[in-house]
Amino acid sequence: MTAGNMDKKRGIYIHMPFCVKKCRYCAFLSFDAEGSPRKEYTDALEKEIKLRAALERENGTDRPIDTIYIGGGTPSVMDISSMSELIKTVKRSFTVDPDAEFTLEANPATLGRKDGVMLAKLQAYKFMGINRLSMGVQSMDNDRLHYLGRIHTAENVSRDMDIIRRKGFDNVNLDLMFSIPGETGDDALRDLEEILEFSPEHISCYSLQIEEGTPFGEMAAAGELTEVPDEEDRETYHRICRRLEAAGYEHYEISNFARKGDDPDAPSPYRSHHNGLYWNMDEYIGLGLGASGFINGVRYKNTSDLEEYFAALDEGRLPVAEEHRNSAFDNISEAVFTGLRRREGIRYEEAVTAYMEADDAERMEPASADDFRECFWDIFAEAREEARGYADRGLLIIDNEGLKLTEQGVDISNSIMSLFV
Ligand code: SF4
Repeated sequence: MTAGNMDKKRGIYIHMPFCVKKCRYCAFLSFDAEGSPRKEYTDALEKEIKLRAALERENGTDRPIDTIYIGGGTPSVMDISSMSELIKTVKRSFTVDPDAEFTLEANPATLGRKDGVMLAKLQAYKFMGINRLSMGVQSMDNDRLHYLGRIHTAENVSRDMDIIRRKGFDNVNLDLMFSIPGETGDDALRDLEEILEFSPEHISCYSLQIEEGTPFGEMAAAGELTEVPDEEDRETYHRICRRLEAAGYEHYEISNFARKGDDPDAPSPYRSHHNGLYWNMDEYIGLGLGASGFINGVRYKNTSDLEEYFAALDEGRLPVAEEHRNSAFDNISEAVFTGLRRREGIRYEEAVTAYMEADDAERMEPASADDFRECFWDIFAEAREEARGYADRGLLIIDNEGLKLTEQGVDISNSIMSLFV
């Protein structure tokens, strides 16, 4: 591990692949919870946590954990005692920073039918150290929720938020989906107004993607579903951005907005620190079925096959299916690709530093801002002219420090980012 890696932040992602019922658009790795081997799964996860931690200690690369994120699936369908054991294993196996951001994804209507049950569950989450909840609200319109195949209603969201706040959770993300077939921009903005009533600390906004292999994908192929046209989708996106900025949210990443803190000029304290690891080329240990990780310069992905996952851990092996040591070019390319998702963009210094962290990097010794800029454009000499073309069209800002997308550039972000791949 190079000295550069030592400065990186490190997080843990744990995947819980169970949901009450599969949504009609869902292409995530998740199964119906009913009748699923949930206990066997958390037992296997505990083995994986111990194996991964032992490997890090053996290699001398174990480092404090700054964030934990339990995602899915629907982690809130897991029973409390298994979750609690799991978290204890994480904390015994790794050194977790006492101030670590600790997020749990929790879907509405899965936290308990009775208020008392829900309060007890939330209290148990607090005891585990969970200090951030991320709720998959998606819409506040019951017809659209039903169409999406979600199990909850708008009333469930209101009740859940009331109890979550009563229990003292003061860092909550709500997901909002737009461009649902049949939905207009005005409909999406009405959903947003209702979501704003809860004053969430963070809002993630995504347009619906129709994926092959999902019921919606089949409906689209059969001509039974009409996707919202791109132009309308982009117009709604920009209306959402404008409304959130007016409501006091910092638009810090293409799809993510954080409520501003006391100092409106400082970065919001409610930015997702865990997701920041992905955009900043920091490190994360992925645990669980299909989970991905990036540590010590290596990207890996666990098997997505549940039987294989159990078998590997029964045999005392990590359930890794793919592994790849990043080259210097991989590093800089990923740094630009993910960095451009941030509204502040990517600085040459950050990108070139990522390049130099890889073992096969050309040894360069940039010392000044000009050096970093020169190194950057040497590496991407072939992309320079096209990048300038985007800048001339007002889609990309190129200055002495680095690059960032303009508001209009976000609409074609994939084309711009692909210049650097
Ligand atoms: S709750 Fe999320 S992960 Fe589960 S089925 Fe629905 S979209 Fe997929």
